[in-house]
Amino acid sequence: MKIHQIYTYNDLRNFTYVIELGDQDAIVLDPWDADEVNGFLAEHKLSLKAVINTHEHWDHTRGNEALVAAHQCEVWAHQNGEGKIPGMTRALTAGETIDLAPNLVMTVMDTPGHTFAHLCFLMTMAGEPRAVFTGDTLFNAGVGNCHNGGSPEALYQTIRAQFHTLSDAVVVYPGHDYLENNLRFTLHLEPSNALASQWLDRVAGNDPGQNQVVTSIGDERSINAFFRLDSEEIRQNLALDQANDETTFLALRKRRNDW
Ligand SMILES: [Zn+2]
Repeated sequence: MKIHQIYTYNDLRNFTYVIELGDQDAIVLDPWDADEVNGFLAEHKLSLKAVINTHEHWDHTRGNEALVAAHQCEVWAHQNGEGKIPGMTRALTAGETIDLAPNLVMTVMDTPGHTFAHLCFLMTMAGEPRAVFTGDTLFNAGVGNCHNGGSPEALYQTIRAQFHTLSDAVVVYPGHDYLENNLRFTLHLEPSNALASQWLDRVAGNDPGQNQVVTSIGDERSINAFFRLDSEEIRQNLALDQANDETTFLALRKRRNDW
């Protein structure tokens, strides 16, 4: 498996992913610009097997129709995306495993919160979980908003039950580049977080199309405020010293909306 992260230079800072499966086969996740994807596929002599969408928002499905027209490929997405996701041919369900190539398995995660038609995808190579495509559920150093058909309570449960449990080495490939802003948010609530400061020094002003920066789940535990609900400093800054984790998460999500 080779993962190509394409930064799209739009205002929303979307990432599209081309995932090489071997034998010149590829799948595309969340295509923003079909022309750009087609150029990439041609340049690398790749044949497109399927488009996968993490969720139904237009900025994640914008390239679907033109790619289907050009490649007659399938489109895989959440069952709740039917009627909303252009060209959808296959509904994926929670826990489903798909053998993409020898020794490469994709496990479907049903991850409500940003919307209720949101999937994430865990890639396991030779039995080792290696990468997770997280759409607008988990970002590098942050989590998605819940403004357009979502629920912060559901997002809390998703992050707690499905992302805290992943192993530290798993690399996080999100739907947008919000890393710098998210680090600033973590530091706004937890100024003493030295690792977050180091990350910010590293990525401030970075162009993700020129210099790819990835985080792992282990990094997220250190630099993502939404993974750090037991930080005393964060709780004090939210005036929530005695609150439980869910209340803290919801307060963080609200603070991030207003920030
Ligand atoms: Zn979205």
